[in-house]
Amino acid sequence: MADATCAGCGCACDDIVLGPDGPERTCALGDAWFALGERPPIARIEDRAVSLEEAAAAAAAILRRARAPLVYGLGRTSCEAQRQAVALAEALGAVIDPAGATGFAYQAVGSSTATFGEIRDRAELVVAWRADPVVTHPRLLERLRVESLVVVDATRTATAEQADAFIALDDDFEALWELRARVGGARLEGGTPALDELARRLLDVRRVAFIHGWLDELTALALASLVRDLNGDRHAVTLGLRGDGNARGAEDVLAWQTGFATPVSFARGHPREVPGAATLLERGDVDAALVVASDPPAAVAEHLRGLPTIVVDARVTATARAAQVAFVTAADGIEIPGTVHRMDGVPVPLRAPLAAERPSVEEVLAAIGGSP
Ligand code: SF4
Repeated sequence: MADATCAGCGCACDDIVLGPDGPERTCALGDAWFALGERPPIARIEDRAVSLEEAAAAAAAILRRARAPLVYGLGRTSCEAQRQAVALAEALGAVIDPAGATGFAYQAVGSSTATFGEIRDRAELVVAWRADPVVTHPRLLERLRVESLVVVDATRTATAEQADAFIALDDDFEALWELRARVGGARLEGGTPALDELARRLLDVRRVAFIHGWLDELTALALASLVRDLNGDRHAVTLGLRGDGNARGAEDVLAWQTGFATPVSFARGHPREVPGAATLLERGDVDAALVVASDPPAAVAEHLRGLPTIVVDARVTATARAAQVAFVTAADGIEIPGTVHRMDGVPVPLRAPLAAERPSVEEVLAAIGGSP
């Protein structure tokens, strides 16, 4: 039996025990995360198994030949490996995108956040806005010990089934602006009764937490503005859900090293904020890609299929199968120790309950960067 941390989602549950029959206290997502699946050769070029050195040299050649390389992903590896990825992107003059980060609302309005412990101990009301943690982060509500929950979403979700109120919604921006008006004291004619009730509940408590899934820039801006308004005379916080176990760490590491938590280009020799990978790929502004510890969404994966692509990951994804050069590494948190940032920003140590028989993501990235 060995203590372990699950990085199957952004909750980074660190109370896991890895026994002879597998992990205990994990949810189904966590079980899948600990089951590494197929373990092909460490490195291959096209269909040929090769040495780590040969594959690293081939990957380095592809990336150095490229005029607009992209480094993408990072969410399923440690902060130590993420630092290595940022250093490699800088050396290549590449764009680096920590899959999924959006930062305009943060830059424009700022954010009020809290740790799991603060939400658990203080929040009198939790509002899940476009988030279905019962499915995506199965142990989150248990860990936050949520007692009073309102779900706002387009359709009734599994989380809505556990909530004391559900508000069906199509237009987030309109709704958030209406809520801002209501909590600000405006008397609206012909508004939405469910939002009227939610505004009353928000004003009835001293501490409220919003947990939210991915939001477009405008919705994120509206939610941050509502939270700022509420903070005038109460304590309101947000917690953004992250799918990959160390997606938050990827944003933090990028921010430490470049000043931006969002996609950054090193093409001019200094970090410069740029649009995300999906936009760049659609425009044809990428000519080679290095995917690190990530299973890219369809909008990214479909464009990668036509490009020279290198994948470094402990798990074999569809993108890895289609890549020209692929490395299957040891798994962070199972075979390699390190650090992840839980989605509330708290650093959590990853242990290595099993011995590693493969190089880590960090070591493979160092080998690519160090290839002559
Ligand atoms: S909630 Fe997330 S981190 Fe916790 S056991 Fe499930 S998958 Fe792992």
